[in-house]
Amino acid sequence: MRALIVEDEPLLHDELEDQLLEEQFNVDVSETLQEARNLVAADEYDLVLLDLGLPDGDGLDLLQMVKRFYSDTAIVILTARGEVEDKVKGLELGSDDYLAKPFSMSELRARIHAVLRRRFKINDNEISAGALTVNLDHLQVRYEQQPLDMTETEYKILRYLVLNKNKTITRIALAEHIWGSSIDDRFSLDFINSHMKNIRKKLSGAGASDIIETVYGVGYKLEAHEAE
Ligand code: CA
Repeated sequence: MRALIVEDEPLLHDELEDQLLEEQFNVDVSETLQEARNLVAADEYDLVLLDLGLPDGDGLDLLQMVKRFYSDTAIVILTARGEVEDKVKGLELGSDDYLAKPFSMSELRARIHAVLRRRFKINDNEISAGALTVNLDHLQVRYEQQPLDMTETEYKILRYLVLNKNKTITRIALAEHIWGSSIDDRFSLDFINSHMKNIRKKLSGAGASDIIETVYGVGYKLEAHEAE
């Protein structure tokens, strides 16, 4: 999952970054509204931690932009402003939660977990796409309750595809998720291809062929037809 931290206090954003890295996010940090706008225009994030008081403007402007572009992105507002109006306005504009500074890191983690659980419908730290189930904390994958043996990289790729089911994921986004954004593109894209070949072989061995669609020239999409 990809997260964007928009916060102009360096000590706080460093601490937030450490927390999110521990939670397996790929993290970008911006100290200004303008830089955050550029990042959001270029990339879809799963989670945005958003300070409202930014040196060049109001974080609520970014909130509106994120919601217009990507309705699925979870947004948690961080602010020193205690005013009720800001909280109400943020929630009206579509933020998922609100933390008033100062807050503890354990409080932040609890809120992030709750937001992501709601967004991705996660139960017992497991998320499903059709008959495929991935444990978010441990390297465990099952298809129709049958355990599948995946390497760590294969597991990370599958977890990302399941968390983004029914969405086309570019190979670059996948590579960045696995290896971070300082990657050698051509090299790692070849790696993604060969990992995907192995994942498909293991899935079809369990009777799950064709659940990962190749979107020609772009990337992959994990198709999940839910039973309910
Ligand atoms: Ca601030």
